[in-house]
Amino acid sequence: MSDRRCIFCGRLIELENEALFRLPPDHPRTNDAIYADFRKARGSFDIRSDLPGVCGSRSPECLKLDWENGKPVLITKTGRSTDTLICPSCHSELFRDTDSASVRSAVFFGAKDSGKTSLILALVNNCIKSQFSPDGRYRYIFNEKLYKTEYIASEAEKAASGGKPADLRSPAAVYRVPRAADGGKAVCDVLHDVSFNDTIDEETVLTALPFAESAEHFVYCIPADKLAEALAADNERADIIMRRELFMMMSACRYAETPPELDIAVTKSDLAESPSGGFGEQVYSAFPSVRELSMYFSRTKVYEAGAGSAGQLYAGLFG
Ligand SMILES: [Zn+2]
Repeated sequence: MSDRRCIFCGRLIELENEALFRLPPDHPRTNDAIYADFRKARGSFDIRSDLPGVCGSRSPECLKLDWENGKPVLITKTGRSTDTLICPSCHSELFRDTDSASVRSAVFFGAKDSGKTSLILALVNNCIKSQFSPDGRYRYIFNEKLYKTEYIASEAEKAASGGKPADLRSPAAVYRVPRAADGGKAVCDVLHDVSFNDTIDEETVLTALPFAESAEHFVYCIPADKLAEALAADNERADIIMRRELFMMMSACRYAETPPELDIAVTKSDLAESPSGGFGEQVYSAFPSVRELSMYFSRTKVYEAGAGSAGQLYAGLFG
């Protein structure tokens, strides 16, 4: 039996001992303070927190815990059953196919207006539209419980035409299903948008970004015109700002068993001419911190995240 990973806070839940359920919808609703607090820490203030109560195997409402097709089901004393699993830490829903090995998450951060939300929207929207990975090995299925595909499409379009999309305060999740002939199991790719307020200090990092500890990728977004400015400027201001952001993010994963990969994504690349060898050398000379801090990451890479490169970039991040 598998453990499951909460895609909202990153916690790994051992179902056998820790399974927690949301009671069926006809149960009385109460204010779920744990859920509300977590959502507020992530910057969502318009959420419904009056939800049916939670119930575990030791709750008074519980008659017994059953297993159906390898999935836990809770039977209440009133004879109702529920298989809606939730996370004990943040009370968000646990999704199928999110065991310890199948969740791959990436955290997108960077200065204000660095294009992180636009980049996530472009990546996810490309998965929705293309349906298959560039090499045809995977089929993409978007999790519509978090955002509707129409919402992603319209926000992605807004961003592509120069508008400013709203922050994504819930993660976006895409299931990547391998061809039957290849065997293997589905993977859930999770993309987290980090807003400026999430990295004010270590305290906000810990409460707003608990998922960063288990993230496989930290994606730092830098717009091409800001990169050009940083190169031209005769000071280290831009590097100091980036260094601070990197340190804040690193504080979130200091106890992680495997350090994440650092991906520097050069966004809005239509704003500057792409150098012949790519943006790599420019990034390293404009931001000496990248080379210096790369020892704290399992790998460091520079990507050009321009229009039309979403498919390749996604495959580069997640496989
Ligand atoms: Zn959680």
